[in-house]
Amino acid sequence: KNQIVWLRRDLRMADQPALHAAAKAGPVVPVFVLDEDRPGDRAYGGAHRWWLHHSLESLGYSFGKHNAHIVMRRGDSVSVLAGIADEIGAGAVHANRHYEPWFREAEEDLRDALPDGCELVLHDGNYLLPPGTAKTGSGDPYKIFTPFSRTVLEHFPPRDALAPPENIAQPSAMPESDELADWDLLPTRPDWAGGFRDFWKVGEDAAHERLEWWADEVGDYDEGRNLPSQNTTSQMSPHLHWGEISPVTIWHRLKDKRSEGWKTYEKELIWRDYAQNVIMQFPKYGEEPYRDYDNSLWRNPNAGHLIADDLEAWQRGRTGYPIVDAGMRQLWQVGWMHNRVRMITASFLVKHLLIDWRHGEKWFWDTLVDGDYASNSTNWQWVSGTGVDSNMFVRIMAPLSQSDKFDAAGYIREYVPELADLPDDQIHDPDPEHRPGTYPDKLIGHKEARERALSAYREMKAGQ
Ligand code: FAD
Repeated sequence: KNQIVWLRRDLRMADQPALHAAAKAGPVVPVFVLDEDRPGDRAYGGAHRWWLHHSLESLGYSFGKHNAHIVMRRGDSVSVLAGIADEIGAGAVHANRHYEPWFREAEEDLRDALPDGCELVLHDGNYLLPPGTAKTGSGDPYKIFTPFSRTVLEHFPPRDALAPPENIAQPSAMPESDELADWDLLPTRPDWAGGFRDFWKVGEDAAHERLEWWADEVGDYDEGRNLPSQNTTSQMSPHLHWGEISPVTIWHRLKDKRSEGWKTYEKELIWRDYAQNVIMQFPKYGEEPYRDYDNSLWRNPNAGHLIADDLEAWQRGRTGYPIVDAGMRQLWQVGWMHNRVRMITASFLVKHLLIDWRHGEKWFWDTLVDGDYASNSTNWQWVSGTGVDSNMFVRIMAPLSQSDKFDAAGYIREYVPELADLPDDQIHDPDPEHRPGTYPDKLIGHKEARERALSAYREMKAGQ
């Protein structure tokens, strides 16, 4: 019987358990549905759409090499899939498990909507271990990262990676497909994606090329990962987010490295699994703080606080703090930001500007090519102190000393060109006489911001 593969964030041929199982069972119809209603506020942002276009195009070429093609449809994923299943008399819809709440709801609805004789078969493919595998002694999922990570390591090695299918048969009559170009996923006027094109190569082949480059570099990761001026992280996050490569493939390629760098890198991959483990337990994690911070902590437009200008200054990289501005401009130009700088910019928004983390999470979601519901919300709640496993709110990061400590001069020169000519001793925190007229003054001084944040926190606690 014909088999459907429901493609979502698993846009690859290698180590693709859903595709692997379908290709063994019968003729395959891979389907990608651009469903803009079910995710609600979580519909793809501009950066997502740019990546998705190129990733689907690249996957289309890969299927083409097997004389096969992907069916692309726009609409409600459940009705589209159920309709195709009916049309081709499918025996099964294969999909890799995803944990975003809108995907889980769609899976539930699809089970009911599929015609008789067609079942939904879910596979585990996008994480090192199937989420839910690492459990506490009493059988519950973990809330805290450290014991989670320890238990994950006890379960290693992860399963073996699957080779891409050698043959992909398709039914002689294929369902109709949209043209990718008609989806208008790419920006036209204005075309803001020039920086993206220069920075990224998209698709499964590019992900594997990057992995080969990274295999030579990972040894230095432990020392280099905090230095935004250097190219010392893998920049694998969008490839992982879109499933162009599986973490299991990465793990097996790097496991023999036996360096401190590899051990630290392995832990970062486990953070990614951890974030899924969090949203599996708390599906509304992107919207709802886990801890009982009430809204009184944040400056609130309803209480007459004007946050819009500060929020916009942060979004546009005009806060007057060079490291924060460099990060926010990198995000805008290339759709990605270095992890250390993500922490600094996020902390600046919630603590220096006292703006609710959900505004920041949303901006990252809209602008990151790797914007991931689980990783984004888990990290924002970690920085804000509202999360299930969190940094404390009262630990306030000092952006200027972080910039100096992690030697961000080159990074600032690259992304804040109006500061490029400043000497090293001025670049992190230029004096008023060195600050070019085109570069803004600080929105708020560090000491004042720190005191404001601490007193808002004390007041909130006293009021609880
Ligand atoms: P590397 O340092 O090379 O790490 C390798 C891989 O491990 C990454 O590609 C990523 O998949 C995973 N990883 C690393 N750090 C983390 C982490 N803290 N949490 C979860 N996974 C991690 N990552 C996303 O993929 N999507 C997001 O939307 C996202 N939002 C973030 C928001 C904030 C406020 C912060 C502080 C971090 C966020 N991260 C997010 C985590 C991290 O910053 C990025 O994964 C990392 O910068 C990607 O660059 P890289 O691939 O070079 O990472």
